[in-house]
Amino acid sequence: MKRAEVVFSGMRPTGRLHLGNYWGALKNWVSLQAQYPCFFAVVDWHMLTTGYDDTSKLRENSREMVLDWLAAGLDPAKSVIFKQSDVPEHAELALMLGMVTPLSWLENNPTWKEQLQELSKTKREMAAEGASKVATVVAAKGTDAATQELRTFGFLGYPVLQAADILLYGGTKVPVGQDQLPHVELSRDIARKFNHVFGETFAEPQALLTPAPKVPGLDSRKMSKSYNNAIDIYETEKSLEKKIKSAYTDPNRKSATDPGHPLPCAENPPGCSVYALHKLYADDAFYAKRGDECRAGKLGCGDCKKDLLSEMSKPFDEFRKRRESFTPAQVDQVLAEGGERARAVARKTMDEVRRAMRLR
Ligand code: SF4
Repeated sequence: MKRAEVVFSGMRPTGRLHLGNYWGALKNWVSLQAQYPCFFAVVDWHMLTTGYDDTSKLRENSREMVLDWLAAGLDPAKSVIFKQSDVPEHAELALMLGMVTPLSWLENNPTWKEQLQELSKTKREMAAEGASKVATVVAAKGTDAATQELRTFGFLGYPVLQAADILLYGGTKVPVGQDQLPHVELSRDIARKFNHVFGETFAEPQALLTPAPKVPGLDSRKMSKSYNNAIDIYETEKSLEKKIKSAYTDPNRKSATDPGHPLPCAENPPGCSVYALHKLYADDAFYAKRGDECRAGKLGCGDCKKDLLSEMSKPFDEFRKRRESFTPAQVDQVLAEGGERARAVARKTMDEVRRAMRLR
């Protein structure tokens, strides 16, 4: 059955977004809205799968993230922008899909295993600081308790919820990076299994692979809030300047005339973070010229950082103005209206699902 292409994607509400989120996903979302019907969700229930013990910032973080979405150019007139928890059909469909999903598919999900290890480590660190309820349990019961506390039904089953998110809206295209391919494959397998058991109901989602440029953090590692090395897409002039000044360059350069290594190489394995940011904000000719100048020891890193700041100033300024033009009440309204539109589609899908399963 030929179906219309629909894009679905979601982000966990982690608060303000950083440049890694922007260049890796959000920028692409903005261009997709001109090509396809799009559903973009704040997947707040997914946040609970790993962070159920601290929900105090969920609402505020959702709002902050949607502000960033709107400032970046997501347009509620073109896309349906909504919060997962405003559409209870996500939970109902996840329950139904859970019935046909073999446990082994979830237990063998490589991302779940990796995340379990990674998050256990984080919770152990939080335990040392007494930072959350799970952390308190961990502190009381010992280090393995972190893993046990995270081995929940909800966390193991998050790919089923993810499949429900996509299938509820007839999502056929799911914009993802290479590392998230297994998730889309799992959603496709679940859709296929459901169709096999109950008859053709869902379109099979496909990954829409988006090439994401490298966005290093200020310390040259991957940009991430947890590494405390991020440049947010909303920064004041002052904070942006402070951050760029602290960015990792080539540690071998002691003076402006020392030849530099802007790209990753044996002398500077991570490569210069400032140079990687030039790639995103300068034109190709300047980027190539700056590389040559650096290698020839023709300028100091301080001047190079000043150039980067002036490249970033216009887009940051525009973003800042747009973001500040939205009030929290407007964000709430966008989410409320998006929730209504999403729910109308979700209800229709659930009618079809119940009919296919002979529940109605
Ligand atoms: S001159 Fe620029 S590109 Fe070269 S190491 Fe310094 S900051 Fe990086």
